[in-house]
Amino acid sequence: MGNPLGPNDRIVGLDIGGTKMMAVVLNNKFKVLGRCRKKSRSEDNANEKPEDRICRIVRLAMEDAKVDTIRGIGVGSPGPLDPNTGVIIDTPNLGWKNFPLGRMLSKTFGVPTVVNNDVNLGTYGEWRFGKIKDAKNVIGVFPGTGIGGGLILNGSLFHGFSGAAGEVGHMTIEVDGPYCGCGKRGCLEAVASRLAIASQVAAMAARGDAPYILANCGTDMANIRSGSLAKAIEAGDAMVEGVVRKAAYYVGIGVANLINIMSPEAVVLGGGLVEAMPKIYLDECQRAVKYHAMPFLRKGVKIVAARLGDDAVALGAGKLLVEHLATL
Ligand SMILES: [Zn+2]
Repeated sequence: MGNPLGPNDRIVGLDIGGTKMMAVVLNNKFKVLGRCRKKSRSEDNANEKPEDRICRIVRLAMEDAKVDTIRGIGVGSPGPLDPNTGVIIDTPNLGWKNFPLGRMLSKTFGVPTVVNNDVNLGTYGEWRFGKIKDAKNVIGVFPGTGIGGGLILNGSLFHGFSGAAGEVGHMTIEVDGPYCGCGKRGCLEAVASRLAIASQVAAMAARGDAPYILANCGTDMANIRSGSLAKAIEAGDAMVEGVVRKAAYYVGIGVANLINIMSPEAVVLGGGLVEAMPKIYLDECQRAVKYHAMPFLRKGVKIVAARLGDDAVALGAGKLLVEHLATL
């Protein structure tokens, strides 16, 4: 498929998250020419609706890139959503219910829009711009505050019957395990997200078993971020390392289950926890895959850490948009 963009054409990749929103302006080679990043909840303008804030962020990114016109907008949003219609079904963080995000952006900016799940697009970006671009089947698992995932099957994003396939964070890992934000018990997210780790580490800090964390973060789990966990492990908090390694091993069990089902060539691990502690996550995932995936299916599977960092979703969104423009 040829690139439908000329050298002077510009597009926007948009990453709408629960905590931050970011727009990047890209040229036909996907080089970032300008950007705007803000917290999802307004501090400067408390009454601004999220959709108005998003449009403002797109305009500010265009200003930053000194661009007046764009050819289209690719958007990654938390789901569940319908990638065919661009309707966001339910995002409690932003207060949207059946919100026609794609149509709103198309109308406001007068350009085509594609909308997809944010972690799907993160996986897509890592696939298209990373070390694994020759793979046809790729699994993305992104452990951070929650755990999201994305599936590339036969060279394209897999959406499934509902449109919302790829919720790897809600596969059951521990029957009768702790409650998850989704209402079920024992989901991967409930045993291995940053919140799951932080709640255990906060208790250790309170007991005096995690001295670095106690001294630097206190006992409030909201202050125990991925970067602090990494520093605590470097500083020798052995029990913190144990908790993180166990969570990383759980992520590996999820990956092993997916390898058995999908037989991918590559697995990409991203998200805040992996960015802060890539070696621990790669090691524990390899170990779990060795024990829990079938030898014939795990043979030759590459497990790699994500490389695009904060730009993965916006770049994946831009790439998906360009592929959409090529079909018009
Ligand atoms: Zn769940």
